[in-house]
Amino acid sequence: MNFEKLITKHVQKLVPYLSARRIGGHGHNFLNANESPKSEGYFLNSSSLNRYPDCQPEELIERYADFANVHKTQVIATRGSDEAIGLLVRTFCEQGKEGILIAPPTYGMYEVAANTNNILVATAERNTDFSLSADLLIEGVKNASFPVKIIFIDSPANPLGTCFAKSELEKLLKALPDTLVVLDEAYIEFADSSDDLTVLINEYENLVVTRTLSKAFALAGIRCGFALANETIIKSMLKVIDPYPIADPVAQIAIQALSDHGIQMTRDRVVECNKRRETLRETLNNLSFVKKIYDSSANFLLIEFTDGPKVFDAMAAKGVILRSFETKKGLKNCVRVSIGSDAELEELIRYLKALEIK
Ligand code: PMP
Repeated sequence: MNFEKLITKHVQKLVPYLSARRIGGHGHNFLNANESPKSEGYFLNSSSLNRYPDCQPEELIERYADFANVHKTQVIATRGSDEAIGLLVRTFCEQGKEGILIAPPTYGMYEVAANTNNILVATAERNTDFSLSADLLIEGVKNASFPVKIIFIDSPANPLGTCFAKSELEKLLKALPDTLVVLDEAYIEFADSSDDLTVLINEYENLVVTRTLSKAFALAGIRCGFALANETIIKSMLKVIDPYPIADPVAQIAIQALSDHGIQMTRDRVVECNKRRETLRETLNNLSFVKKIYDSSANFLLIEFTDGPKVFDAMAAKGVILRSFETKKGLKNCVRVSIGSDAELEELIRYLKALEIK
């Protein structure tokens, strides 16, 4: 039997998401996955590991609802926000007939989640400066050859680092009341906190916000994310989710991270990270082969070099692993650098300064 033939046509064609971990690379200084440079300590109680966990551990949901200033019926906890993206696609798009809209360059998992589920993908243009406008997204929906059920917008965007404006978001939500707008706020804790957009889920039924503990909370290893939306959307996602998505140790750690003390540690971590980001920006600006550094409201910088592949390869040869966006739309010669520790960034700078590039 040729088992290749048994695989569905869309999975045969599928290119899986190339996470930093899957790409691998031999190194010791990993600045390619926007992780926190340091892990914190947590307590684990192993007295209930013989039991299945709750599908949605109550204390976890309550703590996140408090943190995000929403009601607990407006929260679903998932295995990282990646799972929330997949659930949304599976819950709202009819396979082979309907689809999603994205505006490249953007986070790669939206397209992969759609492709995995035989759901169609349309693209919208960005302005020449890469900013995103409601009008361009609305045009993208109109031009799509199939009904667009979901628009995915990352804010702060990955890899661009920029935020989607509140006024543009509201314009979009009003113009397309029958389309879900998913605002992916994986990096939101690093951004200016004056514009809290989650409150808008009370005003607009078509808004979903996704969040994660992987970035500012320094917990990429436990895989815990959330979607915030009105109760009807949350209930429909709960129909589709696996029976036990949140392992008991995950819930225990996440609950500690969402205590007052845990949240304060995250706030402090963000302040320090943002300081290191701006110091790195100043230093890089003095290098002759840096052409442009994008504004960033996240824990990374996107840098355009005169020769991006040369920088990427030279750093990899030294064991400093960055993320190249060479092949992504409009991002030739661009490399993304996660904000690591002082020591990790100092090492990067030392090797960059030693490079001879025109
Ligand atoms: N959204 C964006 C914009 C991201 O960059 C990432 C992680 N790379 C995710 C979502 C997924 O994060 P997680 O599944 O760890 O919550």
